[in-house]
Amino acid sequence: MRILIGGCSQEISTFNPTLCEYDFFDILRGDEIGQEVAKNANSTYAGAISELESAFGDDLELVFTYDAEGTAAGPLRHSAFLRIAGEFLDALREHANTIDGVYFSLHGSMGTPKQLDPEGYLLEEARKILGQSVPIVISMDLHGVLTAKMLDNIDGLASLHTYPHIDFEDTGRRAAKALVRIVRDGARPVAARVRIPTIVRGNELITETGAFGAQIRQAKKLEENPDVLSAGFFIGNPFTDVPELCCQSFVFTDGNPELAERGALEMANDFWPNRHIMQAALIPLEDAVARGASMAGPIAFTDAADAPSSGASGDSNAIISEMIRTNYPHTMLAPLVDPPAAARAHELGVGATFRMGLGGAQDPRFTPLELDWTVQSLSTDPVHLETWKYVQDTGPTAVLTSGNLTVVVTSLAVMLVDRALFFANGLEPAEFHSTIVKSPHCEPQFFDDWVETNLNVDAPGATSANLKSLGHTVCARPMYPLEADVEFSPKTELFVRV
Ligand SMILES: [Zn+2]
Repeated sequence: MRILIGGCSQEISTFNPTLCEYDFFDILRGDEIGQEVAKNANSTYAGAISELESAFGDDLELVFTYDAEGTAAGPLRHSAFLRIAGEFLDALREHANTIDGVYFSLHGSMGTPKQLDPEGYLLEEARKILGQSVPIVISMDLHGVLTAKMLDNIDGLASLHTYPHIDFEDTGRRAAKALVRIVRDGARPVAARVRIPTIVRGNELITETGAFGAQIRQAKKLEENPDVLSAGFFIGNPFTDVPELCCQSFVFTDGNPELAERGALEMANDFWPNRHIMQAALIPLEDAVARGASMAGPIAFTDAADAPSSGASGDSNAIISEMIRTNYPHTMLAPLVDPPAAARAHELGVGATFRMGLGGAQDPRFTPLELDWTVQSLSTDPVHLETWKYVQDTGPTAVLTSGNLTVVVTSLAVMLVDRALFFANGLEPAEFHSTIVKSPHCEPQFFDDWVETNLNVDAPGATSANLKSLGHTVCARPMYPLEADVEFSPKTELFVRV
């Protein structure tokens, strides 16, 4: 039993004006995939491989090909995507006609200025190389955008069932289980999906506690039915503005189109009335800063609009500029991506003072904040996240102060899902009155457990939860909440591979 393994994943924000490059990706070739999996037990690959091993035992031969995993960013430069796609497909070519089944680990929110369905393209080309009869099963993030082209070229699909995401291993396992059903037991997959004309954001999407948990429980219930190969629900990535962006339900069954359609319809119909509450509650920027000024602290200001982990540039100074404009009376701590400012600080050295505009170096929607800055410290060391296993390269980094404002200036955008960047630079957020947090959600112990309040700010940015502010031009319309009144007449789409 020769099972081919590979993958390609990234999520982008169309609204980040800076294109990302080939070097935003970690590339694994051949057996490097297996070695990497051994290091991370909670990965889709680890789950898929363990499931395949228990199904096939000594009969299993894993054929590792190519994996490209990109950090969240602006759209991928098209030539960089073509290079990645070329490498991905070349790695399949030598295995044509020798493979019994395929597992690809995808995310589903990639995009380039010229290719609005990169994953669909990869699957269509993979299908041409590997042949029509080889079962291809994939796993995806629930923020992925599932497309008709993808469904036309796959035999199975499993998506994450958790947000915040914790079930990577389980998702890989569910994908592999579907693959085993097909290659070993002769299951004949039939898929149904229902597209729902809404994009969503906010706390109700937290699967443990929010309204969206109901759809996940429906999907899991369906997956208990022996005729169902997999079921799930995509909330899509509202920042990836592509033609099929929306929310959607899906069910794969073993040769039972009615069951697939019924399950997908029920999830979609139950989800639709909740679209209104699945929008973020945000505080206008001026109000948030005024409230913060009047509070005892400590306070977190969540600036999800500039979250690098969602694909924003990280160079928004919107909140600190408003604080400076209003003579904010407290100490402030903020992260900011600004390569020229970091370079200047490294040239001048610790203790130096210089005048420069900070912020907006990459995203012109932000006006540089010009102040006199003092260089407090410098570093070039990578940052280890507090609980996730990532090590992040920040490039030349400097801690700059101006009055009661402290800014950690990095050269590269890094995920700010915890306090790691602050700690790495000798800063303790709890010692500041106000800290800017550029992530939609953080685990409670990082900020929420000890702050007086966490103000979710409606600041401008490429990953704003104020979805109407983003400027979608590509996704199908009407789309709630981009339009207030949207009719939903549910239609199932069936996909049967022959
Ligand atoms: Zn996700």
